[in-house]
Amino acid sequence: MSNFYLTTPIYYVNGEPHIGHAYTTIAADVVARYHRLAKDDVFFATGTDEHGQKIEKAAKERGVTPQALTDEVSSVFLKLWDALDIEYTSFIRTTDSSHVEKVKEFLDKLYQKGDIYLGEYAGWYCVPCESFFPEKQLEDKKCPDCSRDVESLKETCYFFRLSAYQDWLIEWIKSNKEGWISPVSRENEVLGLLKEPLEDLCISRPKERLTWGVELPFDPQHVTYVWFDALINYYSVLCRDNQEKVFWPCDAHLIGKDILRPHAIFWPIILHAMGLELPKKLVVHGWWTVQGEKMSKSKGNILDPYEIVEEYGLDAFRYFLLREIPFGSDGVFTKEQLIQRVNTELGNDFGNFISRTLGMLDKYCQGNVPVFLKNKTDLEEKMDAIYEAVCIKVNENMKDFAFSLALESIMEYVRSMNSYIENVSPWKLAKDPKAKARLDDVMSYLLQAIIRMVRFMEPFIPKTVNRVKAHLKVTDSEYEGHVLEEGKNIDKSLILFPRIEK
Ligand SMILES: [Zn+2]
Repeated sequence: MSNFYLTTPIYYVNGEPHIGHAYTTIAADVVARYHRLAKDDVFFATGTDEHGQKIEKAAKERGVTPQALTDEVSSVFLKLWDALDIEYTSFIRTTDSSHVEKVKEFLDKLYQKGDIYLGEYAGWYCVPCESFFPEKQLEDKKCPDCSRDVESLKETCYFFRLSAYQDWLIEWIKSNKEGWISPVSRENEVLGLLKEPLEDLCISRPKERLTWGVELPFDPQHVTYVWFDALINYYSVLCRDNQEKVFWPCDAHLIGKDILRPHAIFWPIILHAMGLELPKKLVVHGWWTVQGEKMSKSKGNILDPYEIVEEYGLDAFRYFLLREIPFGSDGVFTKEQLIQRVNTELGNDFGNFISRTLGMLDKYCQGNVPVFLKNKTDLEEKMDAIYEAVCIKVNENMKDFAFSLALESIMEYVRSMNSYIENVSPWKLAKDPKAKARLDDVMSYLLQAIIRMVRFMEPFIPKTVNRVKAHLKVTDSEYEGHVLEEGKNIDKSLILFPRIEK
């Protein structure tokens, strides 16, 4: 048993949550549940990023205060996490006073140390993107991100001395023998970025241009800029519950590839400058696209998580997202693929094994659980060996955030147990009265396999697993020991993942 702390990014409240938010958060939930099942003490943090110009502007357009707007959107995220069965430990909002105080503490300390200084920024500014660009980054004199017009801007602002830590950061990343960023291609990308000299990071905006932010404690005419504020959530969320001594440093930050730079460059430098330990792992995932295009509001191709859950069920959605593609890669979301996955693996392989076993238990044992495996044959020895090998693979893959491979191994086990049924053919044993003892052994072994399967699957499809556990009336000790108490009566009808017709 150990402590395990993981985070999702805090999501910016300038839009409704979509499948990308759902993806990161479901993955984090799976990791959290996996560690809880392993009896680790887990802290799982998520939340919303609520300051900045876009929020201020959106609130103005709607005639509400920024606080009212962020309250509203933040609650939309909370509602979605409930709908997706996300068991987070703590939900942090950057407008929480405890977070604001922590940001000020960071700013103050770094200013005292000389890591934050006053300078002048000249560049081009895109209001919708809330971003400055140096001249050379503009494309046809337009914003490189959204192609809109940009404004020329020169102003005083505070800088954080990233440049002073560049060499340290490169060395530090390289010194992580097991890799700090996963997948390794992303680590190489960061090391590539670090070949260019790092410019100091502008971390403030003058108040006349932006009021919706954390005021600098040493200069009330400025507020801090979004990234500096947002990243500190990973630490402040623990401080709010007095858990920083228990859970810091973070075991894993899960992020999308679009926010690699702030997490891989700004954040470690902020922490190092503060004298705090660095997170142990940065896990970067890819994007889901629809027919090869990135989802966006303007293209009108955003997949609504609620609709998918409504249509196919929550666990089918959770399973598909983590099964279909490696976590670090991009994937194309199609309903055909989802239906295919769910029908074959969850329906034919997993669900069918359980309903078949319960059907036979009813037919051959009147639904009563026989005593567990009195005489183990070579066949069960062989199946146990497969199970043990799958356990090792699943644990290794979960440690590497390779969900898809973990599920592939679990499905190997499920399929091998389906073949076991064919091999022992309980229906033949049932015809021979002298084979009754063997039949009982086989049935008890199949029931054990159900428990082993649902334990594997629990982090991924918790609702379904709870249904199975309730149906089998599994006690905690039975669940731990993988063996059902003899004599318990179990009803035969349990249909999981009925076939989805296209
Ligand atoms: Zn722009």
